[in-house]
Amino acid sequence: MRKPIIAGNWKMNKTVSEANTFAEAVKNSIPSNDKVDSVIGSPALFLTDLVKIAKGTDLKISAQNCYFENSGAFTGETSPAALADLGVDYVIIGHSERREYFGETDEDINKKAKAIIANGMTPILCCGETLETYEAGKTAEWIEGQITGGLKDLTDEQVSNLVIAYEPIWAIGTGKSADANIADEICGVVRSTVVKLYNDTVASKVRIQYGGSVKPENIAEYMSKENVDGALVGGAALEVDSFLALLEAVK
Ligand code: 13P
Repeated sequence: MRKPIIAGNWKMNKTVSEANTFAEAVKNSIPSNDKVDSVIGSPALFLTDLVKIAKGTDLKISAQNCYFENSGAFTGETSPAALADLGVDYVIIGHSERREYFGETDEDINKKAKAIIANGMTPILCCGETLETYEAGKTAEWIEGQITGGLKDLTDEQVSNLVIAYEPIWAIGTGKSADANIADEICGVVRSTVVKLYNDTVASKVRIQYGGSVKPENIAEYMSKENVDGALVGGAALEVDSFLALLEAVK
């Protein structure tokens, strides 16, 4: 039985004080970790405060990106070793916005996954297709390619503990969520890719989230699907009431 994981992805929103106010407001209302992993994916600037605020509660903190080297002459990048030292639990990698606007490749994302795991954190590895790919009926092969590239050389155990997020680009921030059956089908493609690359045991353990216009009103329907183990949520995770309602709907 896979434990659900609901992660908010704040993207480049909020200020330090807004982030702190949010975390203080939600931290004592987070459902028990025994039932669901509840995560906030925050800009790097806010992580130090958020980790302190979340300490001793069931709220987990995620970064939205990091580099694949632990230190060196990489101006402007964030070290995975520094994130781990801070107490960050998860790092989102390969979000479609990073692939599209910052040119990240499957190879970069694979290196990041390895660095995050080596530092004892859990990657939330994103995949997803454009509307063009979706309409051309090529989603399954596209997703299989991204997963194969992203997981390259990871071990059975590493992949068993991973989180993968399927986010169709055409459903992100558009209010146009994928039908729950489509989300289930493509999360199933992710799982069967893991079967092909690894085996049934690994595939039965890896947690797969759906993301794209998930809201308190539709999250239960996604979560009722066999292959959907959680959600990666943008807009609806920005407000306290809405974030708590998402968690409440799955606990
Ligand atoms: P929305 O929930 O705003 O569609 O964003 C989804 C997303 O990109 C989360 O990573």
